[in-house]
This record gives sequence, structure tokens and C-alpha cells, in this order.
Amino acid sequence: MWAQVPKGLERVLEPVAMVWGRLDRMTTRRYVTKVVRARLDEISGACGPGVDAERVLRERLKRRLTEQGTVPVTDPVGWLVGRALPRRALCPDSRCDDGRRMDTRADCAACQMLVLDGRALRSRAFAKATTALAGGRVDRPVFEAELNACWQREAAAAAVRREDALRQRHARERVWAEQRAQRAAQEAARRALACTVCGKPETAGLCGRCRDERRVEELVAEAVDVAVATWGMSGEAYRLDAVRRTERDMRGAIDQAVRDLLAAGGGVFAESVALAARLAAELQLGALQRRAVNWFAHQPPAQAEYEKVFATEMRRSHLHDSLEAAREAAEETAQTARFNTAHALLNDQLRTLRADRPTSEADAEPDWYAQAAAQVRGLIRPAPPERAMSVRRPPALPGSLARGSEAGVGA
Ligand SMILES: [Zn+2]
Ligand SMILES: [Zn+2]
Repeated sequence: MWAQVPKGLERVLEPVAMVWGRLDRMTTRRYVTKVVRARLDEISGACGPGVDAERVLRERLKRRLTEQGTVPVTDPVGWLVGRALPRRALCPDSRCDDGRRMDTRADCAACQMLVLDGRALRSRAFAKATTALAGGRVDRPVFEAELNACWQREAAAAAVRREDALRQRHARERVWAEQRAQRAAQEAARRALACTVCGKPETAGLCGRCRDERRVEELVAEAVDVAVATWGMSGEAYRLDAVRRTERDMRGAIDQAVRDLLAAGGGVFAESVALAARLAAELQLGALQRRAVNWFAHQPPAQAEYEKVFATEMRRSHLHDSLEAAREAAEETAQTARFNTAHALLNDQLRTLRADRPTSEADAEPDWYAQAAAQVRGLIRPAPPERAMSVRRPPALPGSLARGSEAGVGA
């Protein structure tokens, strides 16, 4: 009896028709047919519906037959099921068979990576040797060898995945290291910049002394704005008066602080002078801001807010233990409302003032405050006081302060 290739599978099984013919039992043929269909499904599943699974399997069978060469197939079932039909791949790519992609017929990239890996190469050689030794029979040694090969495949695939992850981690670490080095270089370059004002080297573009001096000018300008916004909005005369008085008070307080420091004697650095001037200007501006808020707090809008909130709170006086406690609570809430309103009024006036500032003034000093502020903000870490004092300088008053003191005295 010469068995015919099952209907519908003629094209796939055509290369191995001679081996198929020797499957003498009906049950055996049914079993192998099932295996063929399972392999076709496997190929379709791995490569997708766009790939001709029958073509792929037919080519596989041709290759296996070529490999067999002149060695006779002694066990047709074992040879077909164990050798000819299964996909052979050492790599984790399910579209790979014998190192080639079933869908594109190109060399399998995953396998090429495995070839680079010595351990995988050994395991591949081992797997091949066991197949050749088995001589096409399905028996226990072959099964065990196959099991071993499977294990090797898994180990190789795991090794590839591990190496891959390691490579990726090394690449990431390299990038991080480069970024760190770049940032360090940028930081070093930034720190190495000389002061743009006085030329002091390695001060990140602005030394502590010049920064303090700039800040003093900013604080004076801020104080003048606060004073004008509070007391100088009702006419030019009021404005001029507020400007003059504030300049005088600010410069006066600054000069006083500097005089006090110089009077203390010893070697005084220009850095300490600038720092003392800045601290004095900050204190003076703070006091002026409090006076301004206090003034607004007693103007009609804030007073009205106070009364309104007080009345609202007193309507809920029944929530308190006594009328006295209710009044105390209402007073506190209303005062808070009063001062909130005062702050808002001051800020509104400051906004109006800055918005109304003539453009010619801005042109004369092109964005000076913004520039200085940006520069200060750009210096992430302000120089600590001991660093500001580390370089000895002749104990002379900085120019701007000297001018300031003249103006202060003259006013
Ligand atoms: Zn592969
Ligand atoms: Zn400087």
C-alpha cells in the first residue's frame, strides 16, 4: 500500500511525498496530518495572515530533505514529526526558522545577535550535533537531546535578553555621564566668568559686591515706587515730593549703615560695605512698605471693607459665648479684611504707576531692572557673606554709594 498525500495538503507535502508514502497505518497518517495542520497554524500565527504558510512549510520540508542527503529515513513518522516539520530556531523570534525570517526570508536579526554570543554559538553547535546523531529516529535519547536543546535555546534567549538589557543600561549610563559632564563643564564655565561690572575673575558674571550694589539701586527704585504709589498719585508736586523724600531716606539709611560699619574700625572690605548697604536698604524698604500699607488701611475703601466685614460677622454673634467674644472675633476678621484691602490697593497703584511709566524713561534705561533681576535670578546660589569678604579690597566706598551720599546730604 502506497499512501497518498491527504487532499488539500498536496502542495505542502509534495517535497516529502516519498516519505509520506511509507506511512502505512491510517491512524499514523491522521496523526501526522494533524501535526502538519498544527505547524501551518503556528506559521500563520507567527507571521500573520499576509504570509503564505503553505509556501513556508513546503520550503522547510525541502530544506530538511536536502539536509538528510543520501542518508535513508528509517523512521518516517519520527523523521516527519520530530525533524522535518518543526520550526528550528535558537532565537526567541517566533518568525525565525533556521536563522531566516519565514515572512521576509531575510537573515534573522535575533540569530545574528546570538551568533555574536559565544555561549549561544556553543549551544547551537550542541543542538545540531544531537540532531545529526539521532539519525531521524524519535526515541528517548533524541527526546532528551531535544529537551536539552530547548533548554539551551531558552538559556541562550535569556542570555540575549540579559545582554540586551545590560547594553541598554550601559548606553543610558553613558548618556547620563555625558550629560553630567556637560552640566559640570557649563557650571564651571559659568563660575569662571569674570564680573561684568568690575571684572573680578571667577564670579559667575557678577561678584557679590556688584550684586549687592545693584540690589541697593533696585531697592531704592522699589522704595520710590511704593512712596509714589501711596503718597504721590494726586499730582506732580506730590509725586516729586515722594520721590525726593524717599531717595533721601533710603540713601540716608544706607549711608548711616555704611558709616557705622566704617566707624567700627579694622580692615573693612568693599564687599562688607556693599552687603551692609544692601541690608540697610532692605530694612528701610520693609519699613516704608509697612507705612504705605498702614496708610491705605485707613483710606475710605479699606475703612468701608472693615465696616462691612465687621457688620457681617456681628450678624453671626449668636454663634459665640458672649457678645464680647463675638465683637473680638469680628474685630479680628474685619482688621484682616482691612489690611488685605490695603495690600490690594497698594499693589493696584503700583501696577498703575508702572504701566503709566513714560516709554522715554524705559528707553533711556533699556530694561535695566529686568536685566539685573534676571541676572540675580540666574545666579542660583548667592555668594555667602564669608565668600564676599574673602578678597581684600581697599576700603573705599563704591561709586554709586558715594553719589548716593552726596545726593542724600544735598537734599
Ligand atoms: Zn532567529
Ligand atoms: Zn563686580
